Amino acid sequence: MSKLGKRYRCVSCATVVLCLRPSAEEFSCCGETMREKDMEELPSGD
Ligand SMILES: [Zn+2]
Repeated sequence: MSKLGKRYRCVSCATVVLCLRPSAEEFSCCGETMREKDMEELPSGD
């Protein structure tokens, strides 16, 4: 599964980057690996 087009957000400074290359590399910021932004935008509650 490609990471192309996925967005990543730094949990420390909220910087968001868009992955434009279908590579397996991970983004890091503030010394930590950035999380997939989409993973944090799931609707909470019913
Ligand atoms: Zn950061």
